[in-house]
Amino acid sequence: MNFKKIVILGTGGTIAGRASSAFDNVGYAAAQVGIAQLLADIPSLAEGGPIISEQIAQLDSKDMSFAVWQQLAQRVNYFLACDDVQGIVITHGTDTLEETAYFLQAMCRPDKPVVITCAMRPATALVPDGPQNVLDALAVARHAGASGVVAVCAGTIHGAVDVQKVHPYKLDAFSSGDAGPIGYVEEGRLRLVRNWPVAQEQRAHVAIEKVAKWPRVEIIMSYAGASGAIVQALLDQGVDGLVVAATGNGTVHQDLQHALLKAQAAGVRVVRSTRCVNGRVLPVPGDAIADSNGLSPVKARVALMLELLA
Ligand code: ASP
Repeated sequence: MNFKKIVILGTGGTIAGRASSAFDNVGYAAAQVGIAQLLADIPSLAEGGPIISEQIAQLDSKDMSFAVWQQLAQRVNYFLACDDVQGIVITHGTDTLEETAYFLQAMCRPDKPVVITCAMRPATALVPDGPQNVLDALAVARHAGASGVVAVCAGTIHGAVDVQKVHPYKLDAFSSGDAGPIGYVEEGRLRLVRNWPVAQEQRAHVAIEKVAKWPRVEIIMSYAGASGAIVQALLDQGVDGLVVAATGNGTVHQDLQHALLKAQAAGVRVVRSTRCVNGRVLPVPGDAIADSNGLSPVKARVALMLELLA
């Protein structure tokens, strides 16, 4: 029995979702069940040590907002600083989980585990996956040597930098791409297949509680027949940064490239990422647009926003 606390922060998602039928795994409303109720429905939850919970938000994570991120980062920082807290578990929707994971990793750079978990089926499903995911997340949060932000889903532990939702329906909806997962949770035990990731990313030098206005950073995709029209429209509206989800090894349609270079010359920060699911852009000397340093388009956007804030 471990006597240090695990803090469970609820933010909503499908894990807290309700459907009118136990056989409906898609026609449900996310973020209906409070974190206290969710946890009360999981037998044996507190067997490994004390747990406290707090409801940070109650939303479908497709609607994740900067205000919720701000509040979440503040509470995570608060609990990380408590000597009697061993780790933090966050229940979250799957849709933007990877963005929150990367945001918290860059913002808080925790030396304790911050484990984000989720579900692909609502709490009312005949066989919900949420309770097992929470138990697995707790096992990770209690593991001596665990640190940093990780995601736990379907018995698999993914690092914040690599994790990506890759399936809209399957219970095992996440992948770490060619980096591979950190490990697995099997019957409450961890089997690690690689070293716990050492944080590569810079800690964001942002006083999160003071942020009143977030920079506007948009993602644009390069594809057959792409043009610079969207870039021009954004420039007209006012934009601080652009991430291009480029083809292959960071290649961009010439018409879009032209518009992006124009935006860059006008002072807008532009970053190239790849729309490929695996791998990263390998830069070549003289690249006109900086690459995302291995980050997917959505994470490159978060990184650029934090950089602009700092
Ligand atoms: N739309 C839901 C959400 O992200 C999906 C899920 O949780 O699986 O909150």
